[in-house]
Amino acid sequence: MSLAVPGKIQTNQAAELFAIAAAVEAVPPFAPLTILSDSKYAVDGLTLHLPKWEADGWLNTDNADLMQDVVARMRARSATTKLRWVKGHSGVHGNEQADKLAAAAVTRPAPCAQPLPPPPMQFVNTGVEMRSLTQRLAYKLVRKQNHMGYERQATQRQISQIAEAAMMTWNIPKSCASLWTSIRGIDMRREIRDFWWKAQHDALKVGRYWSNIPGYEDREVCSKCNVREDLSHIILTCQEQGQGTIWELTNALLAKRRIHLPQLDLASVLVAPGVSLKGINEAGTSADDRLLRILMTEAVHLIWRIRCERVVDTEADPPHCHTPEVIAKRWRKALNARLAIDQQLTRPVKGRAYLDRTAVLKTWRGLLEDEASLPEDWIFRRRVLVGMPLPPPRGIG
Ligand SMILES: [Zn+2]
Repeated sequence: MSLAVPGKIQTNQAAELFAIAAAVEAVPPFAPLTILSDSKYAVDGLTLHLPKWEADGWLNTDNADLMQDVVARMRARSATTKLRWVKGHSGVHGNEQADKLAAAAVTRPAPCAQPLPPPPMQFVNTGVEMRSLTQRLAYKLVRKQNHMGYERQATQRQISQIAEAAMMTWNIPKSCASLWTSIRGIDMRREIRDFWWKAQHDALKVGRYWSNIPGYEDREVCSKCNVREDLSHIILTCQEQGQGTIWELTNALLAKRRIHLPQLDLASVLVAPGVSLKGINEAGTSADDRLLRILMTEAVHLIWRIRCERVVDTEADPPHCHTPEVIAKRWRKALNARLAIDQQLTRPVKGRAYLDRTAVLKTWRGLLEDEASLPEDWIFRRRVLVGMPLPPPRGIG
């Protein structure tokens, strides 16, 4: 027989498997059958590897659908079916003839194959066997099922906007996958990572979210600016104390390293965990990139926290006080805590450090208090602090 391989997967392996399926269908189920194939892949797969593949729920098997199709047909037979591997192009008569048929089919208009009857899938286990269910396999299974489900629309929208902003604002190409992996980088504190994960899903509880929650409808609108809140408003434009001061201080710090932020919208801010200056400033070093990632993510997170204290944690005792001075102090505290983490991560544990000390020294270069009096390698010094200008006084005079 010479048949065209049905379906989208047009590979060698798919063809070898389809050939076996077609052969099985061509012979009555009660007649013993020996199939000769020069495909080690098909023969070994259907004999040696089958028990393991099936026990693992086919999660580790390429062409799982095609394999299952063949297995189902073979198991439906009442007589024995044997598979034997033969060396291709070595003078085995049937093999040579099959090769000729295949070669002839390439130059002929594709023959119309009758579709095979559907495989009796009740003969194949498609779930994972309990005894071979490892955590790794379970994770794969969950991931696979998630992929089969629908994609969350808000997430798709948000993540593609961020990818676009990476290109438009920062001039760096970012795939959606790399945006997700960037939030798991070593430079992201766990707390910030969680926040970013929600932000990339557009799943933070702001604005419209509250409109349907009885008793909390007032949270929908920013009480200061009288507009519906969203993350963009909170992080970039709100007139309440917080974002303005923090961005000013961030810019002042970055200026010490001659880094100037481009015009930012929310999507370009959310690029931060994977941001790089390379696309907009050739002189930018990897230490500059790292600093920028840290400052931007810490800034956004502190702005968010301050807003949550103001809006959500309204019954705090003592009540939160967010004057520019307090906010400047909080920002300084956040950065010093971040610096301390950096120092900590350069300490070798069992001979291996998480962070390279030179990378850390370079990240904070030019930003430290009394830096001139510090030794060149201050990595294990206590009380190394980020120097910070006080915020310009506002509303005075
Ligand atoms: Zn506002």
